[in-house]
Amino acid sequence: MSAPLGLTLRIAIAGAGMGGLATALALVQNGFTNVHLYEAASNLGFVGAGIQIAPNLSRQLQRLGVWEHMAEDAVELKEASIRACATNEELSNVKLTHVAERYGQPHRVAHRSALANALYQGCKAAAPHVTFHFRAAIVGIDFDKRRIQVRERDEDEERWIDADVILAADGVKSVVRKCMLALHGEQDDAQDTGQAAYRIMLRRDQMEHDPELLTMLDSNSTFRWIGPQRHIIAYPISNHAIFNISTTHPDVNFAAEPTASWTTRADKRTMLGMYADFCPAVMRMLELVTASEVCEWKLRVHRPLRTWVEGHVALLGDACHPTLPHLGQGASQAIEDGVVLAIVLSKLTRMDDIHTGLLVYERLRKARAEYLVEEAAASGRALLLTDPAAQAARDEAFRQVTHGGTNPDKWVDRAVQDFVYGFDCVDDAEKHYGEYFAAERRQL
Ligand SMILES: Cc1cc2nc3c(=O)[nH]c(=O)nc-3n(C[C@H](O)[C@H](O)[C@H](O)COP(=O)(O)OP(=O)(O)OC[C@H]3O[C@@H](n4cnc5c(N)ncnc54)[C@H](O)[C@@H]3O)c2cc1C
Repeated sequence: MSAPLGLTLRIAIAGAGMGGLATALALVQNGFTNVHLYEAASNLGFVGAGIQIAPNLSRQLQRLGVWEHMAEDAVELKEASIRACATNEELSNVKLTHVAERYGQPHRVAHRSALANALYQGCKAAAPHVTFHFRAAIVGIDFDKRRIQVRERDEDEERWIDADVILAADGVKSVVRKCMLALHGEQDDAQDTGQAAYRIMLRRDQMEHDPELLTMLDSNSTFRWIGPQRHIIAYPISNHAIFNISTTHPDVNFAAEPTASWTTRADKRTMLGMYADFCPAVMRMLELVTASEVCEWKLRVHRPLRTWVEGHVALLGDACHPTLPHLGQGASQAIEDGVVLAIVLSKLTRMDDIHTGLLVYERLRKARAEYLVEEAAASGRALLLTDPAAQAARDEAFRQVTHGGTNPDKWVDRAVQDFVYGFDCVDDAEKHYGEYFAAERRQL
C-alpha cells in the first residue's frame, strides 16, 4: 500500500509497548518507511500476565499480519463463570459461544508476552522501515520545532531528534502528556484509584495434583470470584499450560510506601491475608504461587483530557486513556488507536494537513476510548460492592442473566459486547474520514 507522504514523513513513536508496536506496524503496512520507536527500557521485558484478546483486537491483529505468531498460545473462551467468593456458588454462567458467530471472531485469552512478541516480530520483519532505539527515554519535547529530547543509554547528555510527526505511546506515566498539559498551564493528574492488582501465573505442574484446579486449567472458561472490595479473575493461557490469575483489591502496599514505580514484587503472606475469606479452591490456588513470583500493580487512571493533540504530536493508548482492567480493553484500545492513526496519516497529501489529520484521529477515537474507561470503572464498582443489600441485589441480577437480564459485569453484558466487539476501527475510520476531515478544516 502506498501513502502520499509515506516516503517523506519521519515518524517518531515514544514507547514500544502494545500501542507503540502496533502503531509502527500499522504505519509500515500503510506505506510509511521512516518509523522510529524510542523505548526507555533496554528490551521489551513484558511482565508475565495474561491478556484478553477480544474480537475487536484479534480482527486487527489478523489485519496486521501477526496473528499467526500468537495463535498457538491463545485459548478460546466458551463461558464465563461468576462466583461468590466465600461459597464458590456460581451466580452466573454466561456462554461465550455466541461471540464467534455474532462478531466474526471468538473471545480468546493469551500470554501478554505472546501478544508483545507477535507485534515485535511484525515490526522486525518490517525492517528497515521500522528502527528500534532501546534505552532511549523521552525526557522532553519541543512542540513548535517538532522534536523530542532523548536520553540514551543512561548517558547524562540528552539529544534532540527532529520528526515530522510524534506519536506518544509512553503509557500511563506519559512524559509527553505531562509536557502537553504544562504547555497550557494544566496539571498532569494521574488519579489514584485506591486499587491494586496481583498478577499471578501457575504452571500445569503446580496444579496437576489438584483435580478441581486442573479442571479449571483444562477448561475454556474464565472464573471470576467476587467479594467486598476484592475480586479475582482467572483463566487458562498458553494453550492450557498456564493458569493466569489477576486480582483487584484495596491498595495497601503502594499507599504505605509510595514509590516512583507502580509495579512491584509483593509479599505472598500479605496476598494470602487479603483473600483469607475466599473459598478453599481459591486459597489452594493462591497457596501454589511461588513466593518470589507474586507481582503487584498499582491501578491508576487519568481524568479525560481536553485534547490528545498538540501541533504534530498525538497521544495514544494509556498515555491518554488509562483504564481500570475490568473490561480487558486497555491494550485493545491502544492498538485500535495505532491502527487508526496509520490510516489517517496515510490519507494525507500535504504536510500542512498533518495537524488536521491528527485531529481527525482524535475525533475517531476519543469518545469510544473514554466511554470504555467509564464502563470499566462502573464494572469495577459493581464487582467490588461493600454494602450487603447492594451485593444481594447485584447477585440476584447475576442469577437473572440467564433469563435475559443485563449483566452487572459489563465484560459479559451483551450491549457492551456489541459496542466493544462489534466495532471495526478500520471500517469506522474509512467511513468517517472524509466528513471529519472537512469538519476539522472548517474549524481551523
Ligand atoms: C492489572 C492489569 C490487567 C490488565 N489486563 C488487560 C487485559 O486483559 N486486556 C487488555 O487489553 N488490557 C489489559 N490491561 C491494560 C493494558 O496493559 C494497557 O492498557 C496497555 O498495555 C496500554 O498500552 P500502551 O502501549 O498505551 O502502554 P504500555 O503498554 O504501558 O507501554 C508504554 C511503553 O512506553 C515506555 N515508556 C514509558 N515512558 C517512556 C519514556 N519517557 N520514553 C520512552 N519510553 C517510555 C514503557 O517502558 C512501555 O514500554 C491491564 C492492565 C492492568 C494494570
